[in-house]
Amino acid sequence: MYRDQGRTDDALADLARIDTLAQSIGDEVMEADALQMRGTIRAESGDIAGALESFHRARDLLAGTDALAKLARTTNAIGIAYNFTGDVARGKTYIEQALEIARRSDDRTVELLILGNLALAVSALEGPAAGLPFHYETLALGREHNQTRVVAYQLASICANLVTTGQLDEAERTCDEALEHARTLGHVRLLAGVELSMGDLLRARGRPAEALAQYEQALRTDSREGSMVALQTAQKMAAIHEELGNYEEALNQYRRTVEVRDGMLADERRRTIEELEVQFAARQRDREIDMLRLDADLQAIDLERRSWMLFGVSIALAFTIILGLVAWRGYRNKALLQQQLAKLAREDPLTGRLNRRAFLEIAERALARARRDKLPLSVVVGDIDDFKALNDKYGHPVGDAVLVEVAARLDASARMVDAVCRWGGEEFVLLLPDTDANGALDAMNRRRDALAAKPIETSAGTLSVTMTFGIATVEDDIESAIEAADRAMYEGKHTGRNRVVVSG
Ligand code: GH3
Ligand code: MG
Ligand code: MG
Repeated sequence: MYRDQGRTDDALADLARIDTLAQSIGDEVMEADALQMRGTIRAESGDIAGALESFHRARDLLAGTDALAKLARTTNAIGIAYNFTGDVARGKTYIEQALEIARRSDDRTVELLILGNLALAVSALEGPAAGLPFHYETLALGREHNQTRVVAYQLASICANLVTTGQLDEAERTCDEALEHARTLGHVRLLAGVELSMGDLLRARGRPAEALAQYEQALRTDSREGSMVALQTAQKMAAIHEELGNYEEALNQYRRTVEVRDGMLADERRRTIEELEVQFAARQRDREIDMLRLDADLQAIDLERRSWMLFGVSIALAFTIILGLVAWRGYRNKALLQQQLAKLAREDPLTGRLNRRAFLEIAERALARARRDKLPLSVVVGDIDDFKALNDKYGHPVGDAVLVEVAARLDASARMVDAVCRWGGEEFVLLLPDTDANGALDAMNRRRDALAAKPIETSAGTLSVTMTFGIATVEDDIESAIEAADRAMYEGKHTGRNRVVVSG
């Protein structure tokens, strides 16, 4: 759960410990897992060279084991990292290797993920025509394994590539199907992307008025300001209006293009500045602590000197030590206080878990990552059952103790990448990266069972506590996923409590 925000250093320190442990017990796969995680963290903080180093080391370790799926994933990660450096050709070589390894493993999900990456790399490197066969192959495999997301994404890519290569009849069929799948999936960005391609198709067919209507439709589908869709529709609509001789309207659309692009740049700048500010605040805190330490040292030296003058040698020594201790304790308390303040800004004071703000920050980053890696992301809302009755019967302090224990248990059973948040009252929200609805259901049922099976020790005796959980996979944004999970949780309350319900 450290993997996000400014806690990168904590996460790396933890991983270093895992590393040492794995080395001492000689578990190469575990060591490689830690390296893989370290590489991901480094890549996320922009250190691509460091990431590559970790991935390569992980790959060397895995090469001697029979963990083929992991070896494939790591090799794929190297490929993606090279793509990030702009060396797409090199990236592609690794992705190809990864695919070959994945095919020898028995993990079809990994194979599918890598094949999809290869299709994108080939399209980027050799053009849409060359990418098509790979997209078709991924599509076929996705269909075979009932991977609805993969199918929808591949259909959308194929639709776009076919339009670009001018295979309009085939494009029309595929785009229609892509549209249907994107709608079923309810994925706004994907849907808008397909609608854009359909606009391109109509334009290529010489039907500019219908193309315009289609672009407007895409804009309605993804109505977020400053989105890629907003930029592309404005550009495309401007070009059509210009062709049609509607110069005034064309000008308007060009203006919008500039506006949207400015907005995107400003957004980017704002994000960079925010990040810098966070870093600055952290450094500022370190500096303050250093200053305090220096202060304490000077004070001690000063006292030492005065003591020497006022008393004899032996008394002075004792005095110095005592006052030095007092000063040191003062410094330590101040430093601790400052650390506490920094923690408080992110933590719920009662349970020590993340507060809403910190959680949402982490969740946003996890979402960006999930989209990039095409991995599922689930959120869970959990609410303690009949907590009011417990409070009424045993009093608030006992209720608080139960809250603390429940939070600790939710956190203790969490993997390192999960985030546990006290959303408010007796409600908790969990983030499960790389986990689909089924995985989340298993994980939460295990936690629910564990809670119900082991009553909580309190000053009022041993109390049985249960929780009801709702699960939703994140499709568009975190907030609506939390709302969906909340609705699922309430459904669980209405159908008898102490259960896990998946949304939708
Ligand atoms: P349900 O199973 O439907 O969730 O029933 P419930 O009684 O848990 O739900 P309800 O929302 O009616 O009651 C929640 C109670 O939680 C009300 C409030 O007194 C208590 N509560 C909220 N925050 C705290 C807290 O920080 N400490 C304590 N001790 N109690 C709290
Ligand atoms: Mg409640
Ligand atoms: Mg409750």
